[in-house]
Amino acid sequence: MAYTPTDYLPYDFANRRHIGPSPAEMDQMFKVLGVSGLDELIDQTVPKSIRQAEPLKMGKAMSESELLYFMRKTAQKNKVMTSLIGMGYHGTVTPPAIQRNILENPAWYTAYTPYQPEISQGRLEALLNFQTMISDLTGLEIANASLLDESTACAEAMTMAQRVAKSKAKAFFVDENCHPQNIAVMKTRAAPLGIEVIVGSPDDLQADAVFGAIFQYPGTHGHVRDFTEVIAALHAAKAIAIVSADPMALCLLKEPGAMGADIAVGSTQRFGVPVGNGGPHAAYMATKDDYKRAMPGRIVGISIDSHGNRAYRLSLQTREQHIRREKATSNVCTAQALLAVMASFYAVFHGPKGLRAIAQRIHRKTARLAKGLEAAGFKVEPKDFFDTITVDVGLLQRGVLQAAVQQGINLRRVGKTKVGITLDERTRPETIESVWRAFGLLRKDDDFTPEYRLPEALIRTSDYLQHDVFHMNRAETEMMRYMRRLADRDLALDRAMIPLGSCTMKLNSAAEMMPISWPEFANLHPYAPADQANGYAELIADLSAKLCQITGYDDFSMQPNSGAQGEYAGLLTIADYHKARGEGHRNVCLIPVNAHGTNPASAQMVGWKVVAVKCDDNGSIDVEDFRAKAEKHSADLAGCMITYPSTHGVFEETVIEVCKITHEHGGQVYIDGANMNAMVGLSRPGDLGGDVSHLNLHKTFAIPHGGGGPGMGPIGVKAHLVPHLPEKSGAVSAAPFGSASILPISWAYILMMGGEGLTQATRVAILNANYIAKRLEGAYDVLYKGQNGRVAHECIIDTRPYADSAGVTVDDIAKRLIDCGFHAPTMSWPVAGTLMIEPTESETKAELDRFCDAMLAIREEIRAIEEGRMDAENNPLKNAPHTMEDLVKDWDRPYSREQGCFPPGAFRVDKYWPPVNRVDNAYGDRHLVCTCPPMSDYAEAAE
Ligand SMILES: *Cc1c(COP(=O)(O)O)cnc(C)c1O
Repeated sequence: MAYTPTDYLPYDFANRRHIGPSPAEMDQMFKVLGVSGLDELIDQTVPKSIRQAEPLKMGKAMSESELLYFMRKTAQKNKVMTSLIGMGYHGTVTPPAIQRNILENPAWYTAYTPYQPEISQGRLEALLNFQTMISDLTGLEIANASLLDESTACAEAMTMAQRVAKSKAKAFFVDENCHPQNIAVMKTRAAPLGIEVIVGSPDDLQADAVFGAIFQYPGTHGHVRDFTEVIAALHAAKAIAIVSADPMALCLLKEPGAMGADIAVGSTQRFGVPVGNGGPHAAYMATKDDYKRAMPGRIVGISIDSHGNRAYRLSLQTREQHIRREKATSNVCTAQALLAVMASFYAVFHGPKGLRAIAQRIHRKTARLAKGLEAAGFKVEPKDFFDTITVDVGLLQRGVLQAAVQQGINLRRVGKTKVGITLDERTRPETIESVWRAFGLLRKDDDFTPEYRLPEALIRTSDYLQHDVFHMNRAETEMMRYMRRLADRDLALDRAMIPLGSCTMKLNSAAEMMPISWPEFANLHPYAPADQANGYAELIADLSAKLCQITGYDDFSMQPNSGAQGEYAGLLTIADYHKARGEGHRNVCLIPVNAHGTNPASAQMVGWKVVAVKCDDNGSIDVEDFRAKAEKHSADLAGCMITYPSTHGVFEETVIEVCKITHEHGGQVYIDGANMNAMVGLSRPGDLGGDVSHLNLHKTFAIPHGGGGPGMGPIGVKAHLVPHLPEKSGAVSAAPFGSASILPISWAYILMMGGEGLTQATRVAILNANYIAKRLEGAYDVLYKGQNGRVAHECIIDTRPYADSAGVTVDDIAKRLIDCGFHAPTMSWPVAGTLMIEPTESETKAELDRFCDAMLAIREEIRAIEEGRMDAENNPLKNAPHTMEDLVKDWDRPYSREQGCFPPGAFRVDKYWPPVNRVDNAYGDRHLVCTCPPMSDYAEAAE
């Protein structure tokens, strides 16, 4: 066979790292598909009418060494200072063992969200440790497994309070001592929902005028106060009390639960997660048992497996799939799992005594710093504090701030005359002396004996972190092995393909990952003076420009730190645009029925009415239904949200028509960019008629999934929407550039791929998906093909017929794939009873074949049941997954151990053994336990 030069790029081309099939393997795949090469396949797959006119022009692709050299130079344009700015971002020491064994370990960072609990027991245990830690520190019964950042956690708590409060008041009270970014994000969230935000002093709070209130603890300027009385007043008025608390302070101070708070939120950044110019870090939320079902985000719980052994799982999991339509309470999907895991290990690493000691040291240093300033006559506020003080320096403000910068220290500018100082775990005696020098004082740190400045009444009296996991032997040997044991329980990309439709689990290459650990990216404070972040500015400008070229948009906002946040930010942008044109009444959003659950949830959050649009038998938008609904709601049409290619993995040619109809009726078009891996270099949402799209950088652009986060969901917009982006119309995230410190990953990916490489990745992603569809043809029905019988970058196979013919469900197949050494594809979405397979360009033909062999063998097992050769109940599918325990126990099954444990696909030597049998979901929801159980329980369960 003869190939055109574009079929595959030369072997030494940098993108071979990302492109799985070798040239020889691609030859074989073309034969199977009956095409002469990639050009022909792409012509059959991607309609001409939607193809982009110009190829991507990104300059020459960089090699790894060029990239790392270039990244270093960019990183060095950032100035790493000691930031004592506070505002929820603190210096912290990441224990090197955690940095190496978790943050920099693909077994942890390449894992997917733990929807398949049997292959996720390791990270589920670490997340349960996180929840236990939060629940203990806050004194509240139940915690979730992370939210995106402290500000959005505050906003989530506000809307949750509105849902659960018995008070019918319409206003929400915000303590003026909240961090400014928290106030800003709550205001943004409140506006479209008609919530009036009252910012003021807790002393002036009128409890009966509000459905809830939030207080910052310690306050942004350092105040620590007991909220017990205000909270009692709120409860008397049937309103909800929320405390946004620093978990480090809670190691010394009375916990929110003891004050009567209903909800606590905050950031766990200072538990060993670098500041990273704003993120990613794990925010937390904890609440009383009564409100657990109203809590947003994922919650890890404990259940049992089919043998009655303890097993972890995401509880209330079906609820997350119901973040949709009018029932939506939140759109949180991707959160901050990896960072929550890091924070939990920080607590495991230090234990309660260690944490208390760290908190005490921070406090003593702050007390010493204050004493030195007071001794020199400076006015230090407040009287009682934990780690933050404010000094009134009058006209000296500028001078002090500048002198501090000359000492390598950033202090906080507060009002016109004050300076804020927040100390942390990294503060050294020399740091304190440098701060004094900035105030013109020449003193030695040991001039002052330590003392406590915590108010007596607020000293914490309750214990925390009593569970055994926080009391294990802390020798690093033991720690390292604990992290390794948990990692080994999980199946991540470092072991096998994770063929998750719509989630694009591609390679996260080592060279892309390395720069995120560099101090120049990791240790910048998001509110440090802009001239210290020139490297970041260059990175963000260039990444935005490249994403504009890829998508056909005119500008990008980097604020949203997940895909769903991007949707929300994009819809707010559209709403602001309508408002500016005097059409603020437009509030109807057309969304096809097969949309991702976050779409209607996000529309709900901006106060819009969701009108569902039908899909035809091919999974494409029913254009006539769309037109009819657009006409019907013409006067109020805000816009539509569509996914391209469709969630069914088909390039619909009607997309241009759908965009046109929306525009004719005065609406704006939101194109969900989660499927961008099928488009980069071939087609641009901006050219199709989209006005705004989010990109999941943690899907298409190589940021790892981290076991359920971090992510980045920047939005691209057309020029007319630029003045309405969150930067201008209201913050959606805590930090100006969201989770800025993972942006180097996507940038590195683009720089090392180049325009040609990116396009090749798309083409090979389509090749890989079509190869799987072809190999499974005949055994399974592939739903939804394009006009030439091709699929896009993913394919949906139908397993519904086997429920009737053999009593085999999609769940049985997913669990059986674990025995074969695979993570299941996306299950039952967008169509119930199906599997959506997305191999990505990163997988080799050998891996695709291993997967197809496994799927074909499973089909034969189904056939054996259909034909009565295998028992309908006691068979390898129903008993899947098989554990090592099964292998050594008495074997009473009508199939061999060999067939049970080593089906096609399973490696003989490197066999992945799930640590538990099939997890009982219903049991876990009936017996909701979401903190670490006492060790005695483990013994019981094992009996
Ligand atoms: C993944 C995905 C989202 C949500 O992205 P998150 O980062 O998880 O919030 C939205 N839409 C589609 C189609 C997706 O696949």
